Amino acid sequence: MKAAVADADVQAVVDLIRERGLTTVLLPGGDHLAIGITSAIDPGVREPLANTIRTNAGVSHVVHVSRPYKLTSREFRNQSTVVNVGRASFGGPKVSVIAGPCSIESYEQLHETAVAIKEAGATILRGGAFKPRTSPYSFQGLQQKGLEILARVGQDVGLPTVTEVVDTHDVPVVAQHTDMLQIGARNMQNFALLVAAGRSDRPVLLKRGPSATIDELLFAAEYLLNEGNRNVVLCERGILPLDRTYTRNTLDVMAVPVLKEITHLPVIVDPSHATGYARYVRPAALAGLAAGADGLIVEVHPRPHEALSDGQQSLTPQDFAALMRAVDDVAVVIRKEAS
Ligand code: PEP
Ligand code: MN
Repeated sequence: MKAAVADADVQAVVDLIRERGLTTVLLPGGDHLAIGITSAIDPGVREPLANTIRTNAGVSHVVHVSRPYKLTSREFRNQSTVVNVGRASFGGPKVSVIAGPCSIESYEQLHETAVAIKEAGATILRGGAFKPRTSPYSFQGLQQKGLEILARVGQDVGLPTVTEVVDTHDVPVVAQHTDMLQIGARNMQNFALLVAAGRSDRPVLLKRGPSATIDELLFAAEYLLNEGNRNVVLCERGILPLDRTYTRNTLDVMAVPVLKEITHLPVIVDPSHATGYARYVRPAALAGLAAGADGLIVEVHPRPHEALSDGQQSLTPQDFAALMRAVDDVAVVIRKEAS
């Protein structure tokens, strides 16, 4: 619709579409309002309907979204979505960095990490309370107690927080304790969880499954958007490797520019899970940013050798601070602002 359109003109177009049994969604963006048709349209109906809509007052233009994921595509909304979480901002001119331990182990461990990562320039604190582990015998996270620690440390240190939600029923309690919900790689296609997170008012960090295609990731994001949650950040965290001898996963660095071309949603890179080794985190992080990522999520632990999960890939606070200096340097080259 044109800028400064009258509500009655919007309603007239919505009615016109709904009369044909099709569903609409309203998507405000910048100074334009888009009216999306998310139901499948019979090709014989599409052109006549487009022509009828074009004659309505207030209509700027009609576009056919050829991508199967509608709301997620740039055809639908060309303006990049900016997701703000506290001082962190993804999708705009800034590079924002999320950091913290894989698992929340104690108040002291998380507090010590939070102080260090904030000092180094990170703007969101991560920490897992519910851990999706390959083995049921591995540490499963502090769960409810972990959520409480995360909320307290976030408050005490002055950082917004993100944590993974693994169960549909936990969405409200996790949303109550944190500023952003993480949907992990293993749950990328847990459609009930996507619907529940899509109904939450918290921004969502959606990680790509290790064997998920780019289209599957975008369809997963579409579930969130279709439920009304527009604040979605995508995360490339490494896909199944050809060879696990040297890295845990393979960072699909080209997924970053490909995603940025197809979708208006911000994209970040997780160099920790992508590589599995602390010494490879820096090259993977910088490659991701150079490829156009809007930010990073990095695992940091005050004593990686004592970590209850993912110690091998966790940076010490010192190494994280050094990484952040390199991030600042790369930000200058790619003309982004460091967070
Ligand atoms: C994590 O962030 O600690 C995690 C489990 O990540 P992923 O879902 O990408 O494996
Ligand atoms: Mn981890």
